[in-house]
Amino acid sequence: MVIAIDGPAGAGKSTVAGKLAQKLNILHLDTGAMYRAAALYALEQGADPADGRAAEALVPQIGVTVEPSAGGQRTFLNGRDVSAAIREHRVSRAASDFSAHPCVRRKMAALQREIASALDMVLDGRDIGTYVLPNADFKFFLTADLEERARRRASELAQKGCPARYEEVLEDLAQRDKNDSSRALAPLKKAEDAIAVDTTRNSADEIVGQLAAVIKDEVGRTK
Ligand code: C5P
Repeated sequence: MVIAIDGPAGAGKSTVAGKLAQKLNILHLDTGAMYRAAALYALEQGADPADGRAAEALVPQIGVTVEPSAGGQRTFLNGRDVSAAIREHRVSRAASDFSAHPCVRRKMAALQREIASALDMVLDGRDIGTYVLPNADFKFFLTADLEERARRRASELAQKGCPARYEEVLEDLAQRDKNDSSRALAPLKKAEDAIAVDTTRNSADEIVGQLAAVIKDEVGRTK
């Protein structure tokens, strides 16, 4: 069973995907973490993440692997655990720029398809239902008001010990949404057959309950 959860930054995809995977006893693949790791490599090499030529040269050097763990996914860049480093603010922006290059997207999408071909899993990202796995068994598109997404992201950052100003987080999310929705290959977009879920006024657990109910209904119907 493959479940795709797409949507803009801060809509709760990762939290919901993690909890849903736990409830269904299957794995969760956070595809954003993979783009973040790739972008971290570009930053470490002193490259401009928006530079397409630099991306072409760097992509063959980038090895991203993931491992499930009790506290969520661990992400490795060329064998080094970068799970904490990829959450830095500068990496969010870099990931949005670096992930727009077709050579980066093709490499990550191929890796994601390979990972998902072996096991049942929930994948969260921007283009899982439209581009990576258009035949996913279930597709959800999570949204929330920009202000609410910024509030959530700001409190998440504060909890992780790297507080950022609300206004700055809001501006960053708006910029990333714009970037992610306007790129040429596999932009952030709801798949026509995805179920849209507005998470603005619901807790993650409530959303997980909604999604699990949809899945249970459908599985019951087709049995
Ligand atoms: O989900 P997260 O905010 O960690 O993703 C970081 C960035 O990676 C996004 O802003 C987006 O540009 C990119 N991304 C993507 N496709 C995905 C997942 C993330 O382009 N499937």
